[in-house]
Amino acid sequence: MKTVDQHASDIMAAIHPMSPRRTALREAHGCVLAAHVRATVAVPGFDNSAMDGYAARAADVAEASEDNPVTLPVAGEIMAGPVSPAPLAPGTVVRIMTGAPLPKGADTIVQLEWTDGGIETVRINQAPRRGLHIRRAGEDIAPGNLVLAAGTVLGAAQIGLLAAVNVARPAVHPRPRVAVLSTGSELVEVGTPLGPGQIVDSNSHAIAAAAHEAGALVRRVDGVSDDPDEFGATFDELLRSTDVVITTGGISVGARDVVKQVLSKSDEIRFERIAMQPGKPQGFGVVGGVPVFTLPGNPVSALVSFELFVRPALRRMRGLPASPEGASWQRPATGTVTVRVSETMQSAAGRRTFPRVRLERDDTGELVATSAGGQGAHQMSGLASAHALLVVPEEVTEVPAGTKLPAVLLPEPEWAGPFGEARG
Ligand code: AMP
Ligand code: MG
Repeated sequence: MKTVDQHASDIMAAIHPMSPRRTALREAHGCVLAAHVRATVAVPGFDNSAMDGYAARAADVAEASEDNPVTLPVAGEIMAGPVSPAPLAPGTVVRIMTGAPLPKGADTIVQLEWTDGGIETVRINQAPRRGLHIRRAGEDIAPGNLVLAAGTVLGAAQIGLLAAVNVARPAVHPRPRVAVLSTGSELVEVGTPLGPGQIVDSNSHAIAAAAHEAGALVRRVDGVSDDPDEFGATFDELLRSTDVVITTGGISVGARDVVKQVLSKSDEIRFERIAMQPGKPQGFGVVGGVPVFTLPGNPVSALVSFELFVRPALRRMRGLPASPEGASWQRPATGTVTVRVSETMQSAAGRRTFPRVRLERDDTGELVATSAGGQGAHQMSGLASAHALLVVPEEVTEVPAGTKLPAVLLPEPEWAGPFGEARG
């Protein structure tokens, strides 16, 4: 059997970042910047007021105080907008609004609260220092400044910054389009009453959701039966219109293992046994430039396989390091922590096992792992309440309570937004 690490390494050797493309800001949100962005403009673009008040010469108002207010004529009013204000005559002030351009000659802003708010003349009760409440051109960003570095994930603040420097279409690694197809003649669509021997196709929904959480544009199609022609036709159609295909089921040693039967005819996809539990049967290959993951059918096996093999690949395609730590793709995409096992657990000999566990911190701050329930590869309830996958080494068959082991944190779906639909 092949090791988990070898399989992960073989997959990552075949995965490359998506080719950069210029996209509108809305589509760029959540994507990774593919090239440095340098400013071609200054931000702010012109000297302007940071306050509603009066633009003044500091020398004209320097003596102002509560006891000895200074009264000056108001020469006009400048609003935020496309205006070029006249220079400020000495001995006068001009009303000015936040964001309005500063008139030449003005070197301070008297905020409205320090005045009587007068229209024709204004009484000023406090002396602002020179430069107060003036935003200078280029004080945030000067032309030529590095605004954002390649590799930056574009969140809200970064998208706003790109807009501020007038970049409408940044070059980003586009989100990979991922097609999800489950196989099995026993499957019916969710919401359908079940006949004898039938089960609901849960894998395609789980894998689609996982790919969505991993930043992909997901296209989930209805599951297909174990008929080779039906599977083959659907698979070919998906392959032509997507960046990644993920299938589940049909790759084991059963009589009707359709995915393996059809796809092993080409030598592009390798079907292998990986020394892990759950998820021993795995298939991977690149067909016509499209990475194809054929995951096992058991629901827990499928999702654990996604965490170990597909998520790091999707991260790399998005232009991210395969793991959040950034050091190496071998580390899982959501990070590992060290935990103390609270109860004795059994583990399969010769296979790296990934028990689903719940985590808790004890009084010393140490993470303590407890089984999240039934550990069968078909038992989804445990996975759905788990925080992490414990990583039990291949040679270990029993983990005594108190043992310290690594655990792969499962992602928390805290941001579940609407599904982005893959096009094409
Ligand atoms: P297979 O790998 O096709 O032999 O499937 C292994 C087990 O997973 C069988 O019990 C299947 O019924 C089950 N299974 C396969 N595909 C799905 C699916 N899409 N949703 C839920 N269970 C599935
Ligand atoms: Mg099957």
